[in-house]
Amino acid sequence: MKECIFCKIAGGEIPAATIYEDEEFRVILDLGPASKGHALIIPKAHYANLYEMPDELAGKAMILAKKIITKMTEVLQCDGYNIVQNNGEAAGQTVFHFHMHLIPRRKEDNVGVTWTPGKLKEEDKQEILEKFSLC
Ligand code: 5GP
Ligand code: ZN
Repeated sequence: MKECIFCKIAGGEIPAATIYEDEEFRVILDLGPASKGHALIIPKAHYANLYEMPDELAGKAMILAKKIITKMTEVLQCDGYNIVQNNGEAAGQTVFHFHMHLIPRRKEDNVGVTWTPGKLKEEDKQEILEKFSLC
C-alpha cells in the first residue's frame, strides 16, 4: 500500500518512536496520546482492519499486547490498561491499516475511553439471539 502512513512507519520509511519490533510487528508511541505511554501495535503487512487480518496474526497481536502492557505497567507504574481497536469510520478508525491502541490508565486520570450505559431491550436481545444463532 503505497500511500498508507502505517505501512511507511511499520517499514521504517517514516520514523516513529519504536518501543518494540520483530519480523511481523512494530510498536510505536502514538503522536496524539490519550495518556502518557499510549502505544500502537502495527503489523508490518497491510490489513485495513481486523476482519481482513489472518487469524494467526490477529492472535499474535493480542499476545504481543499482553507482553507490552505487562512490561509497561512496570515501567510506567500505571494502575490499569485499555486495549482499543477501532474497525471502520463509524467506530472511530482514522488510519485504515489495522492497529491496536494500548492506553495506560491511572486512577482518576479522566481519559475518556468510556460510554453511557443504556439498558438491554428485550426486543434487541431476542432479535440478536435469534439472528446470531443462525450464523
Ligand atoms: P484510529 O483513530 O485509527 O483508531 O487511531 C489512529 C491513531 O494513530 C491516532 O491515535 C493518531 O494519534 C495516531 N497517528 C496518526 N498518524 C500518526 C503518525 O504519523 N505517527 C504516530 N506515531 N501516530 C499517528
Ligand atoms: Zn498500510
